[in-house]
Amino acid sequence: MTGHYLDNSATTSPSEAAKAAMIAAAEIWGNPSSTHKPGMDAKALLKDCRASIAKALGLPRHTQDKVIFTSCGTESNNIALLGCARAKKRDRDNPGTVIISAGEHPSIENPALLLEKEGYTLVRVPTAKGVLDLEYLKNALEEAKERKSPVIFAGFMLVNNETGALYDVKGASSLVKKYFPDAVVHCDAVQGFLKVKFTPASLGVDTLSISAHKIHSVRGAAALYISSETVKRKNIVPVMPGGGQEEGYRSGTENLISIAAFSAAAESGRVNFEANREAVVVLREYLDRELQKLDVKINLPEGDRLPWICSIILPGIKSETMLNHLSARGVYVSAGSACSAYSKKKSGALEAFGIDPSDADSVIRISLSYTNTTEDIDALIDGLADGIASLQRKR
Ligand code: PLP
Repeated sequence: MTGHYLDNSATTSPSEAAKAAMIAAAEIWGNPSSTHKPGMDAKALLKDCRASIAKALGLPRHTQDKVIFTSCGTESNNIALLGCARAKKRDRDNPGTVIISAGEHPSIENPALLLEKEGYTLVRVPTAKGVLDLEYLKNALEEAKERKSPVIFAGFMLVNNETGALYDVKGASSLVKKYFPDAVVHCDAVQGFLKVKFTPASLGVDTLSISAHKIHSVRGAAALYISSETVKRKNIVPVMPGGGQEEGYRSGTENLISIAAFSAAAESGRVNFEANREAVVVLREYLDRELQKLDVKINLPEGDRLPWICSIILPGIKSETMLNHLSARGVYVSAGSACSAYSKKKSGALEAFGIDPSDADSVIRISLSYTNTTEDIDALIDGLADGIASLQRKR
């Protein structure tokens, strides 16, 4: 692709390793559930891929924890949340409480809304200025205890896809477990995988989602981690009945081509973790310096953050107008997140961050990868400078 792609939180370009693995896997076309030779070959490849993903997640070699392949991060999040709600017989009048952080991705927010309609109490923990409010969470847990409405599920994303804020998932999971040891604590780590060092155990979570196309692989594969304890306690059940693939958690013949690419991308992401991170840190420092020359404001989280994502507010110019201006110059960024742009809804994450509603239409998200160069940033800065001057004049 020619041009300057700075929308890596929406999706990433597949790496050479991912593409090679995909092509090799196309030759291993058997169904992993078949017991003949082509099927066994496919099964063996699937097993290797699962081991690579487990390794990239930092799981011990002989773990009883599960890595379940799904088709996308959205599916992984839905299986965790809806699969947890359906796992036990619930009291119709008081099924329980679901806690999520404010500004979660729609793949958590929307199934949570579905459960709220079914009678669950939904609590959103504020994330003003990109900081997960643990004091609020503590009070919410105490209230749930008083109301005798047990917390069945608590979901906290690791990295916010619009602001790059890194949440204290460990602190949140410890609190939830202290009050409700049986709750399923979930982490949407789609934007954090291979960018920040973690294991499901270090975050203290029971389930965790990751997605291939955010780590320089192709779309069509993702994974849901499920701890052995969650399996043992039957705290998650399948939400899509079918042939029982992926130990029943996700029926449907596995997309081995995408899974092979996913595992190759995860393997190189694991091996090159430090180098990739360092490259992005350097690029981000350069980006921040250059942005200071322009009339824009950076939505900088007050707590921990990842350098990959940079959210800025333009001076009174609509994001879409600037996006088109940049796109015409071969510079590709996004307005808030791609998903919220698609549904034309105001971004819940930016609202939760506390951005002034009048600024919400003027936000641009720049998201980096180790594949970017300072030339990409120069092209962006030139495009922004030119756009700010000409588009402001037109207003
Ligand atoms: N969670 C987060 C934080 C995301 O950023 C995304 C995608 O942007 C998803 C989940 C959904 O992942 P997928 O596109 O694989 O469904």
